[in-house]
Amino acid sequence: METVVSGIRPTGNLHLGNYFGAVKNFLQMQNDYNCSFFIADWHSLTTTAKPENIVQSARTILAEYLACGLDPDIATIYVQSDVKEVLELYLYLNMNAYLGELERTTTFKEKARQQPNNVNAGLLTYPTLMAADILIHKAVKVPVGKDQEQNMEMARKFARRFNHLYEVDFFPEPESFYFGKEAIKIPGLDGSGKMGKSDGNCIYLMDDEKTIRQKVMKAVTDSGPTKANSEKPEVIENLFTFLDIVSDKETYDFYNEQWNTCSIRYGDLKKQLAEDINKFCAPIREKIKEYSANTELLDKIAKQGAEKAQESASKTLKEVRQIIGFRP
Ligand code: AMP
Repeated sequence: METVVSGIRPTGNLHLGNYFGAVKNFLQMQNDYNCSFFIADWHSLTTTAKPENIVQSARTILAEYLACGLDPDIATIYVQSDVKEVLELYLYLNMNAYLGELERTTTFKEKARQQPNNVNAGLLTYPTLMAADILIHKAVKVPVGKDQEQNMEMARKFARRFNHLYEVDFFPEPESFYFGKEAIKIPGLDGSGKMGKSDGNCIYLMDDEKTIRQKVMKAVTDSGPTKANSEKPEVIENLFTFLDIVSDKETYDFYNEQWNTCSIRYGDLKKQLAEDINKFCAPIREKIKEYSANTELLDKIAKQGAEKAQESASKTLKEVRQIIGFRP
C-alpha cells in the first residue's frame, strides 16, 4: 500500500483553506493508502518565536482532525515533536540544501516580508523540515493545497539529491496529491490571494453562525457587471469559489446566471453563502466541542499515533544512517 503524509501547523484553528486544501483529500484517502497525518508543532516555531500552550494547541488541532472524520484506527495521527527521528533526517537533508535555493522559495520570501524582525534559520530551512516530514515515512503522495507546490518540488529535489549523492534508489520522489483537476487554493474573503492564518482572513471550522455571517457579509466585492457574460474579477471569482465548494450546483448555477445577465445582487449571494458555509461547518463544530472536552481520549490517540509513526520513522532512519556510513 502506498504511503501518504500531510500535516498542518497548530498556530490556530483549522480554517476552510486547511479543510479543502488538505483534510478533505486526506479523508478520501485514508481507507486506500497507508496514511500519516501529523500536527506540525515544530513548524509553528518558525513564525511564532515563543508559542504558548504548545500541548493544548496540538490537542485543539487533533480534536479538529477527528471532528472532520480522520480515523485514528486507520490512519496514523501524531504530533510532529513526538517523532524525534524527523530531526535527524532534517539535519542530513540540511547538509545538502543550499542557501540560494532556500532563499528563492516563495514561501520564505513571503514570510520574510511578513516578519522582517524574525527571519530565522528555521524559516529558511522550512522546506527541508517539510521534506524530512515526508521522506521519513518514504511517502509517495502528499495531499496539500496549491500554496505548497514549490515546497513539494524542493522535497523531490532533496530526495533525488540524496539518492544521487549516495548512489542509491532509496527515497521515492513524493508528489502533491488532490482529487480534482488541480491543487485547490481557497481565497481570502478580503480580496487577498489566499486564506491563511497569518493573513487574518480566515473562516474557521469552529466559527459560530453569527461570526460566519459577519465575515461573509464583509467580503470585498465590486460595483457589479456592466456587460453580459463578462469575465469575473478576482474578488468575485473568489465568492464563486466558495459557492462551488459549499453550495449545491443549482445555487452556483443560479448566481452564475445572474452574473451573466448582470442582475446579480451581492447581498443575496453573500447571505446564501453564509448560510451554506454554516450548514457545512455546524456538524463539524459540534463534534469539535465533543472531542475537545475529552482530553484523555485525545492524549491516548496522540500516544498511539506517536508509537506507530516512530516505528516507521526509525526504520527509515536506520537505513539512512547505514547509507551515509554512520554506526547503525
Ligand atoms: P498551514 O495552515 O500553513 O499549516 O497549511 C496546512 C495545509 O493546509 C497545507 O497542506 C496547505 O497547503 C493547506 N492550506 C492552507 N491554506 C490553504 C488555502 N488557502 N487553500 C488551500 N490549501 C490551503
